[in-house]
Amino acid sequence: MVTPSPNQTFSFPLSAMPSLISRNVAVIGAGAAGLCAALELRGEGHNVVVYERENQIGGTWAYTPETESDPIGLDPKRKVVHSSVYASLRTNLPRENMGFRIYPFVASGKPGRDPRRYPSHREVWEYLRDFAEEFRLGELVRFGREVWHVGLVEDRKWVVKSRDRNGGEGDGDSEVYDAVVICNGHYTEPRIAEIPGIDEWPGKQIHSHNYRVPDPFRDQAVVVIGNSASSDDICRDIAGVAKEVHIAARSVEDKLLGKLPGHGNIWFHSMIKSVRKDGTVSFEDGTEIYADVIIHCTGYKYHFPFLETNGIVTVDDNRVGPLYKHIFPPTLAPWLSFVGFPWKVSAPFPMFEFQCKWIAGVLSGRVPLESKEEMTADIEAFYAFLEASGIPKRYTHSHLTEEYPYEYSDCLAAKGGSPPPEEWRKQMYFAAERRRAGMRETYRDEWDDEDLISLAHQDFKNYNL
Ligand code: FAD
Repeated sequence: MVTPSPNQTFSFPLSAMPSLISRNVAVIGAGAAGLCAALELRGEGHNVVVYERENQIGGTWAYTPETESDPIGLDPKRKVVHSSVYASLRTNLPRENMGFRIYPFVASGKPGRDPRRYPSHREVWEYLRDFAEEFRLGELVRFGREVWHVGLVEDRKWVVKSRDRNGGEGDGDSEVYDAVVICNGHYTEPRIAEIPGIDEWPGKQIHSHNYRVPDPFRDQAVVVIGNSASSDDICRDIAGVAKEVHIAARSVEDKLLGKLPGHGNIWFHSMIKSVRKDGTVSFEDGTEIYADVIIHCTGYKYHFPFLETNGIVTVDDNRVGPLYKHIFPPTLAPWLSFVGFPWKVSAPFPMFEFQCKWIAGVLSGRVPLESKEEMTADIEAFYAFLEASGIPKRYTHSHLTEEYPYEYSDCLAAKGGSPPPEEWRKQMYFAAERRRAGMRETYRDEWDDEDLISLAHQDFKNYNL
């Protein structure tokens, strides 16, 4: 086996690729993205092995009450708990929009299941289990296998080294593949806010990755940093038992600062300016409070410690690059690809389908892929656009950078040869977002888009099931 030098790049001429050829492909992870990749790759005639370090499918949707030993996730030696789901979590998308297109997420009617339109996390996990069972994806998965190394080998193939996470000795197995599709999720490695004075501050800190239930915050004064779906949920969850909850967020309009209407113990502040050793937290808006706990709902880092590309793929301020359409590194394409990177997207599962169909089709030769030069030029133009728009690097994979939220899915659908997202899907997303912004307390239980639901159900009848 030869390890390429750090400066050596690989270019794989697609013209040399015979059409509709079957490849040996490794998929890392059996969450929603990995399952979708397995289905699309197998459907395209490839031989697929999925490596999953847990003993079950579902990734982040497999709730566990277990949390990590380091509540802010800085200790690299901590035992990693994969899921970031908290006990009270309900989806933030309507189920019609959320499910895979090939397997609509409809209420199953099975006993014990959650039929709500915005169901609990368990219902999503059960849905993924149904999906895996329907398409017999479990037989492709090697459970309890943690991948600890993915790297290039001499004949332009990839070696995947995995070991038994439940015990077992030594370095485990080593297998060689034509292509690797990385689906290891990106909601496990916490990003923490930098707070002046934090080393001397006497309170506790946790990241939302390790938040499960409100009980530990009873009668406490809690600061929740962030203004995302998770911070919204968590602050309301905690407010039921805590003495006070203070939300610290960037870019809050002045008129929203102060007590949150309808809540006796939630306040909105601008970002934390500093903290002091007497327990005080001061905010940029000039207010000060005393707090017992700070919860960082500040997002996650892309993290794939097992991947060795000799410097071809790097992570810089949470920008993974260079990646064409957030999927293919030009010099390694299509033999290395990433599924699921974009966040703040209209609907992750359908996006995974578009990404995976394209990857599977390129690998088989069914659809072409742009040349290395074209992909590189596209990436450079995208980075230049972000810079010119003042969008920080760390938002490279956030689809809030798009003017139109379906631009990416429309583009991928065209590339992979799939029908574009249905019009009802787009309209339903816009309606759901309007409700979420205007009715934060009730958006999951009140709606007026019955017409779109009925269009969705008409379409579902035409799908594969
Ligand atoms: P994951 O689900 O994280 O799966 C990755 C898998 O890879 C895991 O099973 C993991 O064990 C495995 N793995 C990782 N490393 C290795 C390794 N080295 N070797 C082997 N296996 C490995 N999306 C929605 O559509 N609707 C919502 O309402 C919604 N709410 C969310 C709420 C929270 C709190 C979070 C964190 C996310 C939410 N999402 C939501 C986004 C959600 O993450 C995606 O929907 C989707 O589940 C991500 O799937 P994934 O397969 O990319 O990653």
